[in-house]
This record gives sequence, C-alpha cells and structure tokens, in this order.
Amino acid sequence: MDIKSPVNLAPLVGDALLPYLKRLGIETINDLVYHFPFRYEDKRTISPIETALHGQLVTINGKIKRVWNQRTRSGINITHVEIEDESAWLDILFFNQPYIMQTFRPETEVYASGIMDRNGRSLELKTAEIEFNTGQIPVHTGRIVPIYPETRGLSSKRLRAILIRTLPTLEIADYLPETIRSKNNLIDELTAIKSLHFPEDFDSLEKARYRVGFDELLKAVLKSKIRQRVWKEQGLAAKFNPAVIEDYKLDLPFKLTNAQDRALIEISKDSASDIAMNRLLEGEVGSGKTAVATGLIFQALEAGLNAVFLAPTEVLANQHSESLKILLPKYANQIALHTGSKKHVGSGTRVIVGTHALMYAGIELTDIGAVIIDEQQRFGVTQRALLMAKTKGERVPHVLSMTATPIPRTLALTAYGDLSLSVLDELPVGRQVVVTKVIPEEKRADCLTWLEKQVTEQGDQAFILCPLINESEKVIAKSVITEYEVWQKRFPHLNIGLLHGAMKAKEKERVVSDFRDGQLNILVTTSVIEVGIDMPNATIMIIEGAERYGLASLHQLRGRVGRGVKKSYCFLFVSDGANPLNQRLKALETIHSGFELAELDLKTRGAGDLFGTAQSGLIELKHADLSNSELLKATREAADWIWEEGLDRFPELEESLRDESQIAPN
Ligand code: ADP
Ligand code: MG
Repeated sequence: MDIKSPVNLAPLVGDALLPYLKRLGIETINDLVYHFPFRYEDKRTISPIETALHGQLVTINGKIKRVWNQRTRSGINITHVEIEDESAWLDILFFNQPYIMQTFRPETEVYASGIMDRNGRSLELKTAEIEFNTGQIPVHTGRIVPIYPETRGLSSKRLRAILIRTLPTLEIADYLPETIRSKNNLIDELTAIKSLHFPEDFDSLEKARYRVGFDELLKAVLKSKIRQRVWKEQGLAAKFNPAVIEDYKLDLPFKLTNAQDRALIEISKDSASDIAMNRLLEGEVGSGKTAVATGLIFQALEAGLNAVFLAPTEVLANQHSESLKILLPKYANQIALHTGSKKHVGSGTRVIVGTHALMYAGIELTDIGAVIIDEQQRFGVTQRALLMAKTKGERVPHVLSMTATPIPRTLALTAYGDLSLSVLDELPVGRQVVVTKVIPEEKRADCLTWLEKQVTEQGDQAFILCPLINESEKVIAKSVITEYEVWQKRFPHLNIGLLHGAMKAKEKERVVSDFRDGQLNILVTTSVIEVGIDMPNATIMIIEGAERYGLASLHQLRGRVGRGVKKSYCFLFVSDGANPLNQRLKALETIHSGFELAELDLKTRGAGDLFGTAQSGLIELKHADLSNSELLKATREAADWIWEEGLDRFPELEESLRDESQIAPN
C-alpha cells in the first residue's frame, strides 16, 4: 500500500466512514498511519481467572460457557456472558443490549480484558472488552492497547481494527539518509510507525517516539533553512542610519530599559545592512515591545520610506495607532488606521497601522521600509506572504515580528534558525509583581466580598475571564453572556461590561474605552483580551476554569493587570471537580517570569499549550519532545549536515518538505 493513496483504499474503510475520518483530519493512508494514539492501556498480563487480583486490569483467555438474558424488576435487561478457563469462571454483564446474545455464542474461544471484581462468591469482569480468539495476537486485549483521539461515530476500536490490517501492507522508503539514521541510532520509519500503534513493549515505543519526533523537528529546521534562502533571494533592502536611534530616544516619554536598548542596537545593526532583516522580538507582556518596534519605524521614516504596523485585532490596532502618535511626535499626523471598520489612510499617510483587513484592501503599500507584525503567531503564513507581496518598491522592507509567547531560546534557534532573535527579559522599572492566588471554591464568597469592597471603596477595576471553551465563537458568546447576567445580578449596583469575540468592532471599542475611562467597574470577557490590551487602572483579574489554560497563557492573561502604579491581583478559580491544589497552577503564585513558566509548561504538558490551539501558527509540532535538548541539538546537527551535502541529494526528504514548505518569511 502506497502511503500517498487515499484512505478509502485501506481495509475496512468504506465510503460511509470517510466523513468521520475527515473530521479527524485523515484523508490519505499517510494521515491514517500518522494518526497516533494519545495513550495506551497495558493489557498484556494474561492471567488465570483464579489468580486475577481484585481491582486490577486483567486479560483472561477462556471459553464462553453460557449466555443468558435477565430482566430486572425495574425493567432493565441484563445479558450475562459467562467465561471460563481452566481455573474458574466469571461473569461479564451487558445492560440493555439483548442482541449481545447473538454475538457471543457458547464454546467460542475469547480474550476478555477488564477490571477484576471479586465481590463475595461471584466473580465479575467490569468495563470489559471481549475479543474472539482467532489464533492471532489479539488487537483490543492482551497487548499494549492504543487509545486514539476519537470522534463520534469513529471509535478507537474501529481505528485499531483498520490499522492492524493496514500496517502490514504499508510500503515506505525511509527518506532519512542512512548516515543520519545510524549516527543518531534511529529505527526506520516503518518500524517506528508500527510500534507507535502496536508497541511490543514500552522500550520500543520510546524509540519510535524519538524517531518520529526527530523527523518532525528535522523538517522544521530544514524548512527554516529554505525560508532563509528564499528570504535572501527576494532582493535588497534599504540601509538605515543607526545614529537616528538617538533622536528617536530623545522624544520618548520614558527612559528605555537596558533590554530595550539592547534590542534596538541589534535591530539597527541588521537594518544598517542591505540584507533585509527578519527578526523576532520576544518579550514578556508589558516589557515594552512597541517602543522597540517604533524605533525601526522611525529609522524608515527618517530614510524617507514608509512603514506598516500589523496588529491581530482592531482593538489593538486602535491602541497601537494611539501609542505610535505619542512615541513618534514628529510624525504623529502621518499615522493612520486601516481596519475592518476604519479606513483612514490618505495621501499623506506614511505609517499604516492595520489588521488583516489591510491584506485584502485595495490600497498600495509603496516604498515600505519597515514592517512590524505584532503577536505574529496570530497571523498565518499565507497572510504574511500576502502582505509581503503587497509591499512594492525598489527595496524590500526590514521585518520585525513580535511575540509574547516565551519560546525558549534553544527551541527558537532550532525551529526558527532563519530568524534572528531579540529578547526583552526585563520590565520597565516600577512595574510590580501581580499577587497571584489559586482560590478554592469554599473561599469564593470571601473573594467576591473583597472584590466588591475594592471596587466600591478603592475604585479598582476588574476583569472576569470566563472559562475557555473549545467551541465556536457563537457558543462562547452565549456562555459569556449568561455569565455576564450572573455578575449583574450579583452586583446590581456596579457597572458591568461585556466583551467577547462575536461582538461588532464598534461595540467592542466602546466597551474597551468605557472601561479605560473608568465608567465600568467590571469587565466580563473571554480571552479576546489576552493579547496586548493596556489598561493601567485595571488591578484585578479573575480567571475561571484556570486549569484549562497553559501556564504561559495564564501568565499573559495575568499581564493584563499590574500595568499601572496600583497593587494588582490575579485570582484563579478551577472548574467544578478540578483540583484547586493543582501544583501546576500553584507555580503561578511564585513564578513571575513568562520564560520560566513556559519551560515548566513544556516539561509538564508538552508543547501543545505553548503553541497549541490558543496560539496556533507558530510551529505545529505534534510529536517532538521540545524539552529534550539532546533532540534539539541532534536535529540541528543533522540538518546542517544535510544542508552542506545539498538537499537535492536526498530527493525523498526534499519532496516531504515541499508540500508544506513556505515561501513566506516567518
Ligand atoms: P508589550 O511588550 O506587552 O507589547 P507595550 O509595548 O504595550 O508592552 O508596553 C507596555 C506599557 O509600558 C506601555 O504603556 C508603554 O508605554 C510602557 N513602556 C514601554 N517601555 C517603557 C519604559 N522603558 N519605561 C516605562 N514605561 C514603558
Ligand atoms: Mg504588545
């Protein structure tokens, strides 16, 4: 079976199943065999019924003795399947599935896995899985059983059945050069895939994981090398004068931090060259990235060129255009907005602050010397490519992307080798630490009483962040509206506002400005406020369902408060049933560095939280253990070697990069 074939060529996959597979992102054999389990159940131990321990997950190997239906007085139908081996017999019960009688016939040889229940005289196997003994190694019992991400209508069991028959027919020519494989002790791709689905033991599973993670990371590094090559080929940039940075600093309303100064020096080194800069500016929330980026804009303007500043939301674009006017007094009236609802760009405009709308607008972006992309993880590769394609002129712009996602340096250097990196690891002086507490449910009432007092007596303002729901904007809106009503009832004498993603831009803007002006005491919101919003008077952040977020995201949310001079607080509540003593959340009480929290996230929950759904687009690595520094190093070395040898010497590898490889800068 060729890996590129459509998935309907796999055994047991009929047309009826295709929509369900598609929902899991599976359209080809390749998608299917790369749909890996997210966990395993160890059902290897096959024990005689007699010695199976109470409460243990066991597999037994026996024969069906008797099958019979029983009707209880309350009308429930119970089907008893009695299984015996040489040592004893036990009962497996099915509720309201009388047709089970047809499936399980006496005298049939079976395996059964389940939790052993030795209750009094009778033995029972609970939550059991029965599988016919066909003389082959069982699939759903008696082995390390894979559990897959499922969708309604397509169970793990079904996937297992399909995969156990697909894998033996699979033909894969390993695209990794033998040199790389032997140097890094890698097993071959086909073996790795087979082991990930049906591991013989946990040792071989580990080896398989390493191989797949290696591949993924290696490809990411090679892609970044391709991007770098493309970037260099796009043309020459204008050389900026580094000395004008001193003029820029003179007009600033504050003194730059050392980190900001350092970043500006790094930037002006790049921008003094005619090789276009492609730099990522990473920095804690509130570390003052905007003021750094504006330095590059100033350089462009002084060189007689224009600039574009791209923001992920309208709210932020508005905020940035206001800040830019303050940071660039000399050019204040040449800064204009272009968003979905505001189109103010005119003939005198030299700095356009915009949202996605800019990419699809009919306006010409000519003589652009600098492009700033704020919260770059919010923009897709295609959008960035569109923007670059729109910037016309003799010279290509210098590009500075910014992110508050704290990507550990080694990881950034591996997956983004094409970008240079500046880090703001320092906050402006006077910034305070936000007092953070995880609040158990029984203390909620006290906390709310305190909140009310702070708001009415101290004039504090609070954000209430509603639980993150993995649903559409519409569903989120509905639940946040309900929540909003609850808060209104709770504090009828307070002014409470509502902000969520499904609101119209105008409404959002009004709410934000009402809150900023102090007309609202409390803002009930979703994580639309996650990025960038600057509200110096907001001092309290309450986060519901906190356990659902990654630490880095929670840190970002917490960064919405503590931006002014007043003491600020962040209170975390967990969802019903979740553990408020959660060690992971507790870390927020003591750790106040986004970078440290990100490392912790990486170790405890993997990269999903860092780069997962909340902040997609940066890199989507599913398999690699990004906290494994050995792996990072090994893949970087392998990529360098391949690059030296010439990628075209490895056609299969080159081809595997091509389908997704990107022409756009990061
Ligand atoms: P972020 O890095 O999160 O994007 P911003 O650029 O929005 O941070 O800056 C946060 C706030 O800090 C803004 O109000 C900005 O004016 C202010 N700020 C930036 N740099 C300094 C500085 N060196 N000293 C004092 N305040 C600063
Ligand atoms: Mg910002």
